[in-house]
Amino acid sequence: MHADALPVLEAAPEGRPNLLGLTRPALAILLDRIGVGRTHALRVFRGLHALRLPLDAIPDLGRHAAVIAAHTRRPPMRIAEARQSPDGTEKLVFALADGARVEGVLIPMKGDRVTLCVSSQVGCAMACRFCATGTMGLTRGLDAGEIVAQVHAATARVAAAGGRLRNIVFMGMGEPLHHYPATRDAVRILRDDGGPCFKARHITVSTVGVVPKMRQFARDFGGRVQLALSLHAGTDATREAIIPLAKRYGMEALRRACLDHPLPGSRKLMIEYVVLPGVNDGPDEIDALAAWCRDLPCLVNLIPFNPFAGAPYRAPTADEVLRVATQLRARKVPHSVRWPRGRSVAGACGQLALESTG
Ligand code: SAH
Repeated sequence: MHADALPVLEAAPEGRPNLLGLTRPALAILLDRIGVGRTHALRVFRGLHALRLPLDAIPDLGRHAAVIAAHTRRPPMRIAEARQSPDGTEKLVFALADGARVEGVLIPMKGDRVTLCVSSQVGCAMACRFCATGTMGLTRGLDAGEIVAQVHAATARVAAAGGRLRNIVFMGMGEPLHHYPATRDAVRILRDDGGPCFKARHITVSTVGVVPKMRQFARDFGGRVQLALSLHAGTDATREAIIPLAKRYGMEALRRACLDHPLPGSRKLMIEYVVLPGVNDGPDEIDALAAWCRDLPCLVNLIPFNPFAGAPYRAPTADEVLRVATQLRARKVPHSVRWPRGRSVAGACGQLALESTG
């Protein structure tokens, strides 16, 4: 059927899309265009994303499998390295088809549940001073299929160990909102109930604060997918000293975007705050942070700075972290502490820089 539609896409093999990065509607359009027909979209999508099968193993696809393969790419992605930390956290190195490598982290939660931290870019352009990935610069963004492929590889690995991958956090390498279309499509695919079927509230996109894209993200997902903002300061002066992008989007613009962010039910914004001793942990800074948080349904997540070679800061002591928590409590700001996990395998926040693999 529709065999006459075939040559159209064959003329442009360079533009072949990554099959794993097509949302279900995009896949349906492609299947129509190449003469397979959109009636097969759900079966193909389910085969790729729920059963994680190669095209030619998808049931009842017959000769269509070869046609789809001819019009798409399916770049291989494998786990090149896995390093287990004594606390159960596992750092994964994903090898992409062009030889680029990105990192992910598997973090065991309660029961058999596991959280995966995925990467959205090879390196990062944001150059935050406290982040190891920021020292690498940006090589390229991942396409949606490369983001989804990390989840598929991790899903298989976790299942083989008897666990269940339940949460996805975009907190690996890269700035997901600097690379928004791929992030958006990946989230759409991951949420699709014909495929991986992750719950929106179990997906968290973390951003350094690309304000226009935060607003776009709110429009696209209506606040159902969790947003985390890496704030890390209470004042513009401090924020600008540690995050170059802060000069572009100041505290007030961030606060307005957060106030406008839809939060269904009892949902809260996550505000990440890396504790840098002597930099952002003084009473004036925390006063300003508390004022910034006023009237905003949010949870401030304190992250003790994880040091890396050449870092211009030192790690806070547990006391120094608790002192910030005490200041927040006194100011009635809801907060929690993310005690570091995976430090011994350089898989903790901000330590992802591929030091072992080059
Ligand atoms: N680009 C996204 C994702 C980054 S990683 C963002 O900025 O949110 C996820 C979190 O780890 C961010 O809050 C980031 O600021 C934090 N982080 C980066 N380097 C860190 C370090 N060395 N120690 C602790 N947390 C760090």
